[in-house]
Amino acid sequence: MIESRNPYTGEIIDKFKELNKKEIDEKIALADSRFKSWRKTSFKERSSLLLKAAQELKDNKEEYARDISLEMGKPITQAIAEIEKCAWVCEYYAENAQNHLSDKSIKTDAVKSFVSYEPIGVVLAVMPWNYPFWQVFRFAAPALMAGNIGVLKHASNVMRSANNIQKVFERTGFPEGCFQNMVIGSSKIENIIRDPRIKAVTLTGSKPAGAAVASTAGEEIKKSVLELGGSNALVVFKDANISESVKTCVQARFQNTGQSCIAGKRLILHESIADEFTEEFVRQVRELKSGDPLDKDTFIGTLARVDLAEDLEEQINESVKKGAKILLGGKRDGAYLEPTVLDKVTPEMSMFNEETFGPAIGITTFKKDSEAVDLVNRSKFGLGVSIFTEDREFAESLVPQFEDGAVFVNELVKSDPRLPFGGTKISGYGRELSEDGINEFVNKKTVYFN
Ligand code: NAP
Repeated sequence: MIESRNPYTGEIIDKFKELNKKEIDEKIALADSRFKSWRKTSFKERSSLLLKAAQELKDNKEEYARDISLEMGKPITQAIAEIEKCAWVCEYYAENAQNHLSDKSIKTDAVKSFVSYEPIGVVLAVMPWNYPFWQVFRFAAPALMAGNIGVLKHASNVMRSANNIQKVFERTGFPEGCFQNMVIGSSKIENIIRDPRIKAVTLTGSKPAGAAVASTAGEEIKKSVLELGGSNALVVFKDANISESVKTCVQARFQNTGQSCIAGKRLILHESIADEFTEEFVRQVRELKSGDPLDKDTFIGTLARVDLAEDLEEQINESVKKGAKILLGGKRDGAYLEPTVLDKVTPEMSMFNEETFGPAIGITTFKKDSEAVDLVNRSKFGLGVSIFTEDREFAESLVPQFEDGAVFVNELVKSDPRLPFGGTKISGYGRELSEDGINEFVNKKTVYFN
């Protein structure tokens, strides 16, 4: 049995029977046969269904959001915002997929030569619990618009949300089998990837999960996209607008109770503004309201599981042992961890060199600007970096020096359907969202007429 447990109350709220071998096979067979007809549908037909899915999400956002909050402790207002964002990505691809995938004419010696973008078939999505709807929709919307079929293996602690996502597609008239959730644990994934009817896999999650999935896909010569962990830096230079940047940095670290791959996890401050910035930062973090995720005033919920809160507590304690100083928080109660700010964090500490997945941040200072760039690039992760400065030219000169997949200036790193999203180094490879995202799982067919 796979269980959903409310991390705020500790109570089991749902149980799901795992699919057996035969049931998995039936689902893949349905997906495979559906592909044969779905690939022939027009962009217009797909687009009209996806717009209905967007409407379904908007009409029932409270209902879907409530299950997210119950399953993984996300504050309800943030869960509602997540559902709204899913509607946005559906609308974006409904409107833009045809344009992104239209034939591209290329002048050669041929009478006519061009590239056409064709669907590849059934794509497996292995997804995490931190944005139970968003992670899935940012895969599903472009996949379905491209003419592909989706099968989902969601994180075991959010199976109710996973079933709800399938319901969104069923309720809005997508043909049966276009998108199916599979209630399975991760041990079943290897065989599914090896199934010849599965053409590719995308995984959002941790490095071990990504490595396991990509190894199997590699052996089978199947395409994979990996969106893995991050340890984004927030770098505040001496000329930054302090009050604006404090506000943005608090949001960057503490939204979703800190459980975001693109959260700002390392605060890197120029020493001349460090005291002023830190004082205001701690003041604002102290004001964040913790509480019941279902309460509309709550900004900090619990972590999604007790073991995740324990892991973060361990990273804090290890860093303190090595000399970091707690300015705020640091205590845990079950799955709840107080919003925590640590000062005097160095690259040898786990608050700096590991991913920290929750409401805790470490502060490191620098003297020279080149030192700040080195500190950012020292991470083995490469999802994104935010820099804060009023000097636009200076910011532009820094952009090529960062090794990350994204650089945001005076803004937190965020995903937007119109922009590509993805990482470098152990944060993964491939891109989601935008034209780049929909291009990952298509056959870019070269056509040459003589
Ligand atoms: P996780 O433990 O890696 O789980 C992610 C998914 O992979 C789940 O469906 C999980 O299934 C499955 N899985 C786990 N171990 C596996 C294995 N050995 N082989 C195949 N599948 C496996 O990650 P998580 O704790 O759910 O999510 C947190 C991580 O995701 C963080 O590192 C975070 O940074 C990353 N993340 C990245 C992005 C991005 O866009 N780059 C976005 C969000 C989160 P079970 O639940 O059944 O184990």
